[in-house]
Amino acid sequence: MHKVTKKGITYFYYPPWEKSGQVRHGFSSRLGGISEGPFAELNLGYKGGDKPAAVSENRRRFLDLWGKEERDLVHGEQVHGTNIALVGAKRTAAVIPETDGLITADPGTVIGAFSADCLLTYLWDAEVPAIGLVHAGWRGTLGGILFQAVEAMRERLTARPGRLQALLAPSIGPCCYEVGSDVIGVARSSAWRDQVVFYPSIRKDHAFLDLRSTNRNILLAAGLQAGSINMSTLCTRCNSRLFYSYRQSGGKVTGSQMGLFFLMAR
Ligand SMILES: [Zn+2]
Repeated sequence: MHKVTKKGITYFYYPPWEKSGQVRHGFSSRLGGISEGPFAELNLGYKGGDKPAAVSENRRRFLDLWGKEERDLVHGEQVHGTNIALVGAKRTAAVIPETDGLITADPGTVIGAFSADCLLTYLWDAEVPAIGLVHAGWRGTLGGILFQAVEAMRERLTARPGRLQALLAPSIGPCCYEVGSDVIGVARSSAWRDQVVFYPSIRKDHAFLDLRSTNRNILLAAGLQAGSINMSTLCTRCNSRLFYSYRQSGGKVTGSQMGLFFLMAR
């Protein structure tokens, strides 16, 4: 993904997708907003305890880069589950409960997701056209949420896995994502154990989890072509001046990046 600064806001995007004329997307950094302290500067999530007025203004500025407003936005509650929701013009809520992934074929709907180390994955079938945006930490990853998202796009929006393109945003890298025996245990008993990528740690009963490669492998198992999966290698924890990182904050309060994705009206 490429880094760009517009109207004082630094964000990331993948140029070939923006050039397509069919979709618009972006992934924020922490640079450019009005939040202060541990939330400085462009915190786009309400959950962490930041002043709502600051988050609202930050969202206004970020969405305005695409000519959108907060009322155009729909996102999941994000509970580290594997539920995928189909959203569109008839939606009734801006926040879909108990949901970590959204899919849509409606050009008026801006789908969003939030993260501070977790992986956001964008999915796009240009033939339908249809899009999806999925939030995954270790729990959602090992539950196969990306496989669920591909299946939901296939079943409900007539997308074809072999036609889908995927974009994996900056997230915590395997360099910084050491996990303990609890996560390793879930991985070993997961249906996706053959797709999980771990690197050894010198600490007993610990390993480094590669969220990106694991999810890439799950997308391949779901039927995507290797050449259609684009992956940022930026680590949110290694680059904590550029990104909010839950791990870097020591598990204390921090802000959130936001991914947004929408289909342009034809
Ligand atoms: Zn790192």
